[in-house]
Amino acid sequence: MSSKMYSVAVVGATGAVGNEMVSILEERKFPVREIRLFASERSEGKMLEFDGKGITVKKIDSNSFEGVDIALFSAGASRSKEFAPMAVRSGAIVVDNSSAFRMIPEIPLVVPEVNPHTIVRHKGIIANPNCSTIQMVVVLKPIHDAVRIKRVVVSTYQSVSGTGKRAIDELSQQVRALFNCREIKCQVYPHQIAFNCLPQIDTFEDNHYTKEEMKMVNETRKILEDDTIGVTATAVRVPVFYGHSESVNIETEKKLTVNEARELLSNAPGVKMIDNIDVLEYPLAINAAGRDEVFVGRIREDESIEKGLNLWIVADNIRKGAALNAIQIAEILIGL
Ligand code: NAP
Repeated sequence: MSSKMYSVAVVGATGAVGNEMVSILEERKFPVREIRLFASERSEGKMLEFDGKGITVKKIDSNSFEGVDIALFSAGASRSKEFAPMAVRSGAIVVDNSSAFRMIPEIPLVVPEVNPHTIVRHKGIIANPNCSTIQMVVVLKPIHDAVRIKRVVVSTYQSVSGTGKRAIDELSQQVRALFNCREIKCQVYPHQIAFNCLPQIDTFEDNHYTKEEMKMVNETRKILEDDTIGVTATAVRVPVFYGHSESVNIETEKKLTVNEARELLSNAPGVKMIDNIDVLEYPLAINAAGRDEVFVGRIREDESIEKGLNLWIVADNIRKGAALNAIQIAEILIGL
């Protein structure tokens, strides 16, 4: 790309992720010449702020992407399938947050700290991985490079913001209703989420895993460029507003001691280690919210096997798990 300032479109700008994209573009001083904000018909005419100016939200039409350099999509897979090819035909490069294109072999699935070299292969679309996968692979990458990971067993504790803005409202409404002895409404989740844990994220597949769990399996292998890694996941929705937490158990080919792991992770890009159990310090979702780093702690040997470790990994799912990762990809694109 030759120009120094870019025309950027955000599709899904009124959503949990899209809104954060707009803030992060501003915060990181992305060289924006013009910003176009798109959402559904419901939001047409709404004003959002960018760089101190009000920008009108529009619905997408056939000319929406004319002259756009980079289109950040965050409006769900069906919208991406419908509109991303149109944006590419108009000359834009699409960074897509949905699951629409992630597992298409020719489409790069990118976490900038892990596999930035794959970006150059793009043919107009770059996929942003699933939020739970992003934070896990940022931590696993340096370990995999050092001692090769054979198997990963992960259980997630995912916040409601991962489902979008309606789920954030549902949790707060249920909490208020329960404290006021009123009946609760379950519209986003199949069961009460307030004061509960739901062992279901997304729908079930034929193998009895959920789609979210299988995304973690398949996307981890694609991003780490190693189909031999065994991954098994249990994805759980918890009544937390922002920040996904994960208990991750790994088995490695070569032995990695706790001290060696701490050394590796304290130098890993995008990772911040918080692991001082003497003073009860470990990563917490409430502290990760609003932060860019992926936090890791509770690093300890799995004493039930010869070469294994347990880790606790936490990150802001809306930032590193979605909006920030997409904008880091865009930053690489404009530097190419
Ligand atoms: P959300 O809060 O529900 O927002 C959805 C956005 O899509 C809204 O701006 C909505 O506009 C817009 N939209 C809906 N239909 C549209 C249409 N026909 N044309 C244009 N825009 C339309 O959801 P979200 O959490 O931000 O997630 C958005 C996408 O990012 C999803 O694909 C999700 O899987 C992915 N993602 C989310 C996370 C996360 O942690 N939340 C992480 C990674 C990836 P209105 O406001 O007008 O309805």
